Amino acid sequence: MKLVFLGSSEAFHDTKANVSMVVLSDRNILVDCGYNVPQKVWQSYPDKDFLDAVFISHFHADHVSGLPILIMRMRQDKRTKPLTLIGPEGFEKSFKELYELVYRGFFQASGFPINFIEVKGGSRILLGKTELLFADANHLVGTQYFVPTAAIRINSGSSSICYSSDTVYTDRITNLAKGCDILIHDSYMPADSEYHKRMPAHSSPKDAGKAARLAGAGKLVLFNINRKFDKDIESILKEARQEFKGKIIIPDEGQSFDI
Ligand SMILES: [Zn+2]
Repeated sequence: MKLVFLGSSEAFHDTKANVSMVVLSDRNILVDCGYNVPQKVWQSYPDKDFLDAVFISHFHADHVSGLPILIMRMRQDKRTKPLTLIGPEGFEKSFKELYELVYRGFFQASGFPINFIEVKGGSRILLGKTELLFADANHLVGTQYFVPTAAIRINSGSSSICYSSDTVYTDRITNLAKGCDILIHDSYMPADSEYHKRMPAHSSPKDAGKAARLAGAGKLVLFNINRKFDKDIESILKEARQEFKGKIIIPDEGQSFDI
């Protein structure tokens, strides 16, 4: 299995792309598709049939707003191969509404079959020989801003990756990530920042380190680091190292891992 980062940044960064990755196994899966992701897909994977599935972790613009664009280009390129779209509860309805808003009338005429699968904690999907497992993340739970958010684990042969998506620390994701080769975990703001007292919606690097340690992950990848803090990467890494002694990476765009 190969993992390629198209982006690993937060929603509103000046220059860096939204978190997104491509997982290549016997099926090719795009994980999250924010507003600046489609161009990165086209640059690296121009074949209209390249993707078998797209997983959208939740309905925030930096995770989903590029998807109508991606699908419209597949349509223009005359794709006929089916595409599987996977997302949390309510995803199909919300995505069709989004598509209708931005390209009125075109969803029904997409030209190729689109299969929706909605998932929640405990769901399991088999795509070819690639196994997808899910847990409920904890993203704005208990607030007026709540949106269902799914964490995903992808298993291929003896290789595995786990992606938390946007979340505060939760044992559900630690359990999903048990023994995985790479845990990709939200690390939005340092643990001592005021943010975590105000409206916790994301994790700190320390939370990510804790999740990796308790899960026994092989490596930890940090993503979603707030733009005010991503100039001082060493401090971010140092905080995560308080909890996790294994290798910790903040990936560059295009950086890949053979797992
Ligand atoms: Zn979010």
